[in-house]
Amino acid sequence: MRRSLLVSNFDPLRPRQRGSRVAAGGNRGRKGNGGRGAGNAGAARPGVGYTAGLQERAAHAQEETMEFRLPPETEAWRQELRAFLKAELPPEFEGDDDFFDNEEQIAFAREFTKKLGARRWFAPAWPEKYGGMGKTAIEQFILNEELAYHRAPSGGRLFTIGITGPTMLVHGTEEQKARYLPKMASGEEWYCQGFSEPGSGSDLASMQTRAVRDGDEYVINGQKIWTSNGHVADRMLLLARTDPDQPKHKGISAFIVDMKSPGITVQGIDNIAYRHDFNQVFFEDVRVPARDLLGGENNGWYVATTTLDFERSNIAAISGARRTVHDLIRWAKERHPGGRPWDKPEVRLKLADLAIKAEVGRLVAFRTAWLQAKGEVPNYEASIGKVWMAMLGIEVANAGVNLLGPYGALQPGSKWAQLRGRVLTSYLLSVSGPIGGGTSEIQKNIIAQRGLGLPRG
Ligand SMILES: Cc1cc2nc3c(=O)[nH]c(=O)nc-3n(C[C@H](O)[C@H](O)[C@H](O)COP(=O)(O)OP(=O)(O)OC[C@H]3O[C@@H](n4cnc5c(N)ncnc54)[C@H](O)[C@@H]3O)c2cc1C
Repeated sequence: MRRSLLVSNFDPLRPRQRGSRVAAGGNRGRKGNGGRGAGNAGAARPGVGYTAGLQERAAHAQEETMEFRLPPETEAWRQELRAFLKAELPPEFEGDDDFFDNEEQIAFAREFTKKLGARRWFAPAWPEKYGGMGKTAIEQFILNEELAYHRAPSGGRLFTIGITGPTMLVHGTEEQKARYLPKMASGEEWYCQGFSEPGSGSDLASMQTRAVRDGDEYVINGQKIWTSNGHVADRMLLLARTDPDQPKHKGISAFIVDMKSPGITVQGIDNIAYRHDFNQVFFEDVRVPARDLLGGENNGWYVATTTLDFERSNIAAISGARRTVHDLIRWAKERHPGGRPWDKPEVRLKLADLAIKAEVGRLVAFRTAWLQAKGEVPNYEASIGKVWMAMLGIEVANAGVNLLGPYGALQPGSKWAQLRGRVLTSYLLSVSGPIGGGTSEIQKNIIAQRGLGLPRG
C-alpha cells in the first residue's frame, strides 16, 4: 500500500543520525550526559561536532526545515518536477505574476500548461481515465508547491484543477466527468469561478443571478463580479438562483457555462497593482444545456461549499510567500549600496521571524493535503490555512518593502528596483489576501463554529 506521508520520529533534542557529524563521532568516547539533558541517558552530548551538525542543517534549512520525510518515490517526484521546471522555464525566470493582461504572457502560460498536461502532470491526483495519474493528494500538493515556488505560470490552475475539477469529481455525473475533466487535465480548457455578485460576497446565498428552465436548457440573466481569469477562461463554474421561493440557501444551482456562449459580456477591472486579473461578467439570456447542471437542481449550495473548501486549501499562496522570504534572505546576505543588511540586528530578527511563520504555514498546508490524501474534504482546517497565508502575505510584503528601504518602493521595471520590484507588487496585492476566497472574518467564524464547536453566532 502506498504511504501518503511518512513522519519520522522527529526529536529536536536528538542529534541527526543521517549525515550528522554528531552521530558520526563528535561525542565518541564521552560517557554519560553532563548537560541539561540529564536523564536522557545514552544520548550523545553536544560537542564540537554538534556545531558542525547545526551548520550543515542550516545550509539545507530552506529546503528541509523539519524531519518530515516523504516516501522516496515522492521525493523522486519532486526532483523530476524541478528538472522539468529548469528545462522548461526560461533561464532566470522570475514568474509572470500570474496576471493575464499581456498576449505574450497568455500564450506562454497556455503552452506551458499544455506541456504539463501532455505529461499528465497538471492534475496528477485525478484518476487515469480523466487525464490524471492516480497519484496521491500529497503528490499533487508537491506539484503545486514546486510550481508556485518557481513562479511557473499557473494557467488558471487554481480555478481549473484546484477547484472545479475536484468539485466535479464529487458532484458530477459520469457523463460530465468524461466530457470535461480530461480537457481540464490536459491544460486545454481553463475555468473561472462565477460566485460573487455586486451585492453578494460573504453572504453568497443572497445572489440574484437567475437561471430559468426552458425545455432542455436554462436561461441565465444577471451579473457576476471579481471573476478572476474571466477574460481568459474557456468555461465558468456558475452559481445562479433556480427557485426564488425557496429559502436562500436552498434555491441555488451550479452550472458549467461555456464562456463563448452568446449573451456573455466580460469587462475587465484593473486591480490595485494596475493589472488586469479580475472582471465583471454580464449574462443576458444566456442558454446553458440542462446536462451542464452540476449536482442537481437546487443543490448548488452543497456544490459551492465543496468548492470553497478546496479553494481555501490552496498551497500556492504559502509557497509564493515562502519563496519571497527566501529571496529576502538571499538579498540580505549580499552587499548593497546602502550597506550590509546582514549586519543589522533588526534585519536578522525580522528575517528569522518571517522564516518561522513561512514554515508554520507550510506545515498547516501539509496537514490539509494529508486530510485530502485520506479522502476527506478539509473544512475548518482549510480556513486555518487561509487565514494564516493571508496574514503571512501581508507581513512578508510589508517587511520586504521596509527591509529594502527606499529601493523597496520602486516599481518593477525601474533599473534600481531590488528583486525586480516584485516585493512592491506583493505589497499592493497582499491587501486582497484576506478578502479573496472568503474574508478572514468569515474563515474565523468557520473555525469558531466547526473547529472549536462554538454555537452559531
Ligand atoms: C483578488 C480577489 C479575487 C477574487 N476572485 C473571485 C472569483 O474569481 N470569483 C468570485 O466569485 N469572487 C471572487 N472574489 C470575490 C470575493 O470572494 C469576495 O470579495 C469576498 O467573498 C468578500 O465579499 P465582498 O467583497 O462582497 O465583501 P462583504 O461581504 O461585503 O464584506 C465586507 C466586510 O464585512 C465583513 N463581514 C461580512 N459578513 C460578515 C460576518 N458574517 N461576520 C463578520 N464579518 C463579516 C467582511 O469580512 C468584510 O471585512 C475575489 C476577490 C478578490 C479580492
